Amino acid sequence: MTEILRIENLQKRFGGLVATDNVTLDVHTGEIHALIGPNGAGKSTLINQLCGELRQDAGVIHLAGRDISHMPAPERVDLGLGRTFQVTSLLEDFTVVENVGLAVQARDGGNFRIFDRVSGRSSIWEEAGHLLAGSLLDDRRDARVADLSHGEKKQLELVMALATQPRLLLLDEPMAGLGHLESQQMIDTLNGLRGEISMLLVEHDMEAVFALADRISVLVYGQIIMTGTADEVRNDPRVREAYLGT
Ligand code: ADP
Ligand code: MG
Repeated sequence: MTEILRIENLQKRFGGLVATDNVTLDVHTGEIHALIGPNGAGKSTLINQLCGELRQDAGVIHLAGRDISHMPAPERVDLGLGRTFQVTSLLEDFTVVENVGLAVQARDGGNFRIFDRVSGRSSIWEEAGHLLAGSLLDDRRDARVADLSHGEKKQLELVMALATQPRLLLLDEPMAGLGHLESQQMIDTLNGLRGEISMLLVEHDMEAVFALADRISVLVYGQIIMTGTADEVRNDPRVREAYLGT
């Protein structure tokens, strides 16, 4: 299978607004594919349709050759579709390792029994510890999430997405709000997963996009105006006009 994801003619309207307009796109297996475009272009809408949080009005989504267009979100996760959110979605009053444990438990069909956290199955906490050991948060596992920096929270969200054992990871602005050092750390982390996990990366930070992406698709007013390499995108007059503003 050379394509982990294939989207055909995906469409979503909100009343009179066409948020995604006949989007056709594929992500090769092992590829980091960036999706860029101005605010309001429809990037988050597309991610939400892919993971099943929003139902498309038309179009088809294939994950590893399977038609998942009408599949409920949890089944898509079971098939290997993971995601992070543009706005963090962590439990602030719980610790780092507890948040990761909850993500592991949710993957296994547990229903977020947050009050069982002391008595919960030890295999969950072992796996959570193992996931954290491979991350930048190893020495922060007992910190309360509320006490983490923004950059640490973004790293935690990534670890929680990895807890679902994704084959394709949908990343909605992982660099948002990060300082230069934190962005560099996130780039390094994502680069470390290269090849192991395919990624569809929505990102505004062009330095990160150019550092990470094998290919880039440009979304403008709900339509993909081009897909190409970093050089092709940088030099495309339509992209410069519509997006880079030069
Ligand atoms: P992006 O992530 O590229 O900034 P979005 O996908 O968030 O863009 O939004 C695309 C367009 O759809 C915007 O015009 C936005 O206002 C609109 N939109 C997004 N979600 C909704 C919704 N739930 N209801 C109505 N309009 C929405
Ligand atoms: Mg968005």
